Amino acid sequence: QENMKKQRESAGGYVAKIDPIWQRPYKWDDNVNVANRMIFGNEAFRENQREIINATKSGKNVLALIPTGGGKSLTFQLSAVTDTGVTFVVMPLLSLIDDNLQFVLDLGIPSCSLSTSGNSQKEDRRISDLYKDIRSLQYKLVYLTPERLVKSPALLSLIDFLASQGKIDRFVIDEVHCVSHWGQDFRKDYLHLDFLKEKYPSVPLLCLTATATIKVKDDIVKRLKIDRDYAFFQSSFNRPNLVYEIRDKKQFKNVNDDLVQMLRTRFRGKSGIIYCISRKECEKLAETLSKNYSIKCDYYHAELSYNRRQEVQARWMKNEIQIIIATIAFGMGINKRDVRFVIHYSMPKSLEGYVQECGRAGRDQQKAECILYYAYGDRKRNDFFIITNQGSSGSRKNENIHALYAILDYCEEPYLCRRKMQLNFLGEDFDEGRCNKMCDNCRKGLQVVESDRSREAQVVVKFIQRCQDYQNRVTAKQVTELLRGKKPKKNFLRQDILEEYQGRLKTMKESDIKRLIVQLLIMRVLKERFETQTIRGTSVKNIIVFITVSPSRPALLKALENGKLPVLLSDGVKSSEKCEIEKIPEERKPLEVGDSNLYSAAAGATVVT
Ligand code: ADP
Ligand code: MG
Ligand code: ZN
Repeated sequence: QENMKKQRESAGGYVAKIDPIWQRPYKWDDNVNVANRMIFGNEAFRENQREIINATKSGKNVLALIPTGGGKSLTFQLSAVTDTGVTFVVMPLLSLIDDNLQFVLDLGIPSCSLSTSGNSQKEDRRISDLYKDIRSLQYKLVYLTPERLVKSPALLSLIDFLASQGKIDRFVIDEVHCVSHWGQDFRKDYLHLDFLKEKYPSVPLLCLTATATIKVKDDIVKRLKIDRDYAFFQSSFNRPNLVYEIRDKKQFKNVNDDLVQMLRTRFRGKSGIIYCISRKECEKLAETLSKNYSIKCDYYHAELSYNRRQEVQARWMKNEIQIIIATIAFGMGINKRDVRFVIHYSMPKSLEGYVQECGRAGRDQQKAECILYYAYGDRKRNDFFIITNQGSSGSRKNENIHALYAILDYCEEPYLCRRKMQLNFLGEDFDEGRCNKMCDNCRKGLQVVESDRSREAQVVVKFIQRCQDYQNRVTAKQVTELLRGKKPKKNFLRQDILEEYQGRLKTMKESDIKRLIVQLLIMRVLKERFETQTIRGTSVKNIIVFITVSPSRPALLKALENGKLPVLLSDGVKSSEKCEIEKIPEERKPLEVGDSNLYSAAAGATVVT
């Protein structure tokens, strides 16, 4: 059975299989090989690079998902130098353009950038000279921001001309996830890039990103109008040199003590990033660490001026400050190779974002650590309140909630391999044996088994339903405590409900009941309702999270009642106990976080009210 499971994992999965057509011999093979060695100094190709080059040089539209540091740039740089026309490269930030341009100029590849401020007369002259040179194919690579491409009529007519002559080899759209609302870095100007395919259908697009969810992928190809015809490539997002660990805030009297202790010992003198959830949290932590503990750090968030952000980043890049304390505004295009740790000071807002942020560690392939401080209560903060109760509506909101519960599930999980959870969420199979004990859960050395707890789940749901029927509102904590048999502090329940349910799950661990509730939230059987209450006699506001049964999912409830909806919880056992544990039958496979049926059913159905 173990073998069968292995087989299923290696054979199935979502990671795109490479179409063998891109691995056949091509007429440009020799040129490409020589250029890779002689111009770029590379001994070989990395995963998917050769295939992407073959596809784009064949005139195919391409979408490639490759993790940060995986070598996306080579795919268009090398294609450009071995083609006869010009390649336009769209990037979202001037700093990214400057880095990339400098890199190719140093290699002697004739290239230029069109994205300068462009408002002085001198600039205008420079630009018109540039246009002339581009027109006569003096440049292999032309870099620009989407704003430039969309807003400059002179440039558009230049592109028209080149396209009509068949001289545009391709349009490259780097960091292409910026086109999607689902991604973290949405840019309005990226939306306008849909005109490329409309106006120049025969010029191939080469779209590159390190963002990997299926949702974003589908959105990208639709928006850029290549969904009917494109080749898709996806490299593994596994980062074998990163160690993942979650630290429960509950175990510390003061989280800062633990943090400082770590910074002074294992991270002493090492470069790192601490991510905070808000601007205020950044500033406060930076002040505490520098004033009270003399740690060299500074903060970075979107409300700082551009110059100030550049300055903080530059000082960090040069190791003048050890730690940058930042919101998620910090990150895109950061290429510091020796980042030894990424710490999340609070629970991140999505699992996908978390993986990206961790990805900034260890780009030199040396070991680096990713530590997340977690507290269930972090979710009571405003951010989550907004996501869950108000703000955007419809599927966008569902997506936010999905992301929120995925990270919650990840944080609460005590046994499953962190790597496996991350990669499965991103749609990639992963055998936890390959983690090499580089995550806290694998380091526990326990055998993980999953068992169906749908019976217990039924008790939880029925109990909450009963409470609801009589307008008794309950929190996750109250549910957990009462079902374990604890007498409630206040008499908030009808006596008959109390008698029926008190102690019904007394053999279950408290943490397991909580995890069961999280699973039911993920499955949308339950939902949360955030309410602000003012503490009597004060102006202090307190957010309370009530748990309710989702009324819009009758089919799910029925399935649960009939035992047709498995609710799986992992358990860790010592290897020697393994044989005594009952195996889960095949059809009771876990409902994965990314299960498309579950979520397409959920999207549109449930809106938290
Ligand atoms: P990405 O854009 O995917 O984050 P880059 O294109 O910036 O990554 O590449 C990251 C690093 O890997 C660069 O230093 C690049 O020179 C190097 N690199 C890319 N491809 C290869 C290769 N085939 N062999 C060796 N080094 C490579
Ligand atoms: Mg890149
Ligand atoms: Zn692991």
